[in-house]
Amino acid sequence: MSEYKPSVDEAQPLDTAAALAEVLDRVAARTFRDDLIDAGLLIPTGVDGLYGRSEVFENVVEAINRLVTQRGADQGAEVMRFPPAMNRADFEDSEYLKSFPNLAGTVHSFCGGEREHHRLLKCLEDGEDWMDNQKPTRVVLTPAACYPCYPVVAKRGPLPPEGRTIDVFSYCFRHEPSLDPARMQMFRMREYVRMGTPDQIVQFRAMWIERGKALIETLGLPHSIELANDPFFGRGGKIVADSQRAQELKFELLIPIESEEKPTACLSFNYHMDHFGEIWKFYTADGAVAHTGCVGFGMERTTLALFGNHGLDVENWPASVREALWGKQ
Ligand code: ATP
Ligand code: ZN
Ligand code: MG
Repeated sequence: MSEYKPSVDEAQPLDTAAALAEVLDRVAARTFRDDLIDAGLLIPTGVDGLYGRSEVFENVVEAINRLVTQRGADQGAEVMRFPPAMNRADFEDSEYLKSFPNLAGTVHSFCGGEREHHRLLKCLEDGEDWMDNQKPTRVVLTPAACYPCYPVVAKRGPLPPEGRTIDVFSYCFRHEPSLDPARMQMFRMREYVRMGTPDQIVQFRAMWIERGKALIETLGLPHSIELANDPFFGRGGKIVADSQRAQELKFELLIPIESEEKPTACLSFNYHMDHFGEIWKFYTADGAVAHTGCVGFGMERTTLALFGNHGLDVENWPASVREALWGKQ
């Protein structure tokens, strides 16, 4: 957006307009990040994509979270809160590693004895690699807020005829370090997860596309809905991504944050078909494999969209936006 114009001396000789746009985007992203940090909204840790958040930032996150709760209050959703980690066996079963091995985060811990401990300390002292005795634990970091809930619900047996709706909220980890403040390594996702028949999932998704648009409109943010695909890994990834698009399994609500041309995905609306139902063997009331879908709200991205579009000072946001977030003041 106009506030974040790069300085002229950072311009490079360029062949095409696309390359120019990309460089401008990159520089703009850096500037927006710097502004967020200077304003104290994000607290840098020295690692790209890993930030602390200020009180003001968190107040916005909490307000958005409340709006999502209000919009979803009629669903009879069951609230489940998991820590930002999950059972490694469930994670392996989920087939996440087939699609996104590059994004996954595993948790390792020191598993040596006295001697190995001495060696570890010596390595640290000498500035050498100390990871020899760090062994994988039974825990991995949660890649998407909905992942831990499928195996848990599956263990309860067949779904009731009306299916189930689960409300989850979690920090998620993805190894995608970036200077773009909207691409973090740890960020929060609020989700509603729907489990049931194909019709129930398709209807849920259509409803949430409308509800998502309405919510974002009350926040005074420009937006569009687009067909999307996940960034599947490797040579086979393109084929899977094409098929995901052909079947219209993923839509995103995009909001321009730093660039009008390349808006950022802030909400996503996903239909997994019977992927999780097959893996965890859960069934509908009439014995068919359950289908699942979810709507995910990117809490940091939606918050950043507000700061990007309405400015860094919440006191100066439009009255209607402040009222939507915090009520009449
Ligand atoms: P992208 O295509 O931008 O990587 P995604 O398709 O990986 O996004 P989803 O997997 O659908 O995103 O995740 C749901 C929501 O979580 C996204 O719509 C977004 O708001 C948020 N999200 C995803 N990745 C990140 C990230 N690295 N940093 C901050 N928020 C994220
Ligand atoms: Zn999900
Ligand atoms: Mg992604």
